[in-house]
Amino acid sequence: MALINEHYLKLTKNYLFADIAKKVNAYQVSHHNARVISLGIGDVTQPLCPAVIEAMHRAVGDMATQERFHGYGPEQGYPWLREAIVKNDFLPRGIHISPEEVFVNDGAKSDTGNIGDLLRWDNSMAVTDPIYPVYIDSNVMNGRAGTVNERGEWSNVTYIPCTEENGFVPQIPDHRVDMIYLCYPNNPTGTVITKDELRKWVIFALKNDAVIFYDAAYQAYIQDDSIPHSIYEIKGARKVAIEFHSYSKTAGFTGVRCGYTVVPKELTASTMDGLQRLALNPLWHRRQSTKFNGTSYISQRAAEAIYTPEGKEQVKEAIGYYMSNARLMKDTLCQLGFTVYGGENAPYLWVKTPHGTSSWGFFEKMLYGAQVVCTPGVGFGPSGEGFVRLTSFSQRRDCEEALHRIRAWLHD
Ligand SMILES: *Cc1c(COP(=O)(O)O)cnc(C)c1O
Repeated sequence: MALINEHYLKLTKNYLFADIAKKVNAYQVSHHNARVISLGIGDVTQPLCPAVIEAMHRAVGDMATQERFHGYGPEQGYPWLREAIVKNDFLPRGIHISPEEVFVNDGAKSDTGNIGDLLRWDNSMAVTDPIYPVYIDSNVMNGRAGTVNERGEWSNVTYIPCTEENGFVPQIPDHRVDMIYLCYPNNPTGTVITKDELRKWVIFALKNDAVIFYDAAYQAYIQDDSIPHSIYEIKGARKVAIEFHSYSKTAGFTGVRCGYTVVPKELTASTMDGLQRLALNPLWHRRQSTKFNGTSYISQRAAEAIYTPEGKEQVKEAIGYYMSNARLMKDTLCQLGFTVYGGENAPYLWVKTPHGTSSWGFFEKMLYGAQVVCTPGVGFGPSGEGFVRLTSFSQRRDCEEALHRIRAWLHD
């Protein structure tokens, strides 16, 4: 008899975005002619930049020839891409990463979801709250999260609230944990972490022999020079942190699929008997070469093109486009009397719902009143209640139209 992995049955039934889609569909059924604008979904809208397109065309050309056809690539990714990553994403910030510490992947979601494979199922874990759902759900699947209560909190997970009261600064837990997930700039709140605050986490991890999983998917959106782009800007982080990068939000690769994970050689974890410390880098290599067969040659050539002078310029322009949306949204919403966080070093705005309205309550009101979709903050965790997330990924005219409608709706 094949027995099911019962941990999967604990997962909450509906994924947040499926719930949203259902409610939007229900609205559309009774309002055929309404054009609903979504400021909710975390997907980019601008086409790939010319440097990337040219590189992809060239790569397809390569694949069409006998001499330059590429089958399975090196397991960790092509050396030319890993070298470009080291040279462009880390060296200029004074960080020394070796190409052997870089693992090219098909995007950050897979690796943030799979990385827990390296550590025993009974390690304790902490996440900031609200949070990108992958960190928790992937730990539910392997039994690490425990059981869930009616507030949606898991018994073996330490929640670190990031709220208006604490200025969205995650506070160090008062007990030890083994695994810590941090995401900065943050999805969903759009807030950032300073070097001093991040240093506290590195020190905590060093002291408690914990591992930090640092999701830097939005680092390219940082505008303020004092904000760290990588946890390795902090001394000692190489001993305790794994970092995830993605080209999805950096360069519009959500449909291309490419990113990378850094697993430093100094990073170790203990065996159960406490007698040995083993490096996680070779373990992750072993895991990836068993369960992952590499990112396509074409996607890796596309990623390489981001690091050319033209590529860098063009990517910066696309990010500037989204950040102009963010500015416009933040200015307008503040003018309309909303309390708005984020949107300055991240493509996300974290908007407080007025008069203590619930997240879902505000979602419905704005959908029916302005035909604009947001993401209810509570969908990202208990501390998200009373907030909604707006993204700046829409096309300019949709962004402007949505703001226009919100203004009209409020003045109704
Ligand atoms: C979008 C996103 C990712 C990246 O996903 P990909 O798989 O690289 O497309 C990773 N982490 C967070 C927090 C994200 O929002």
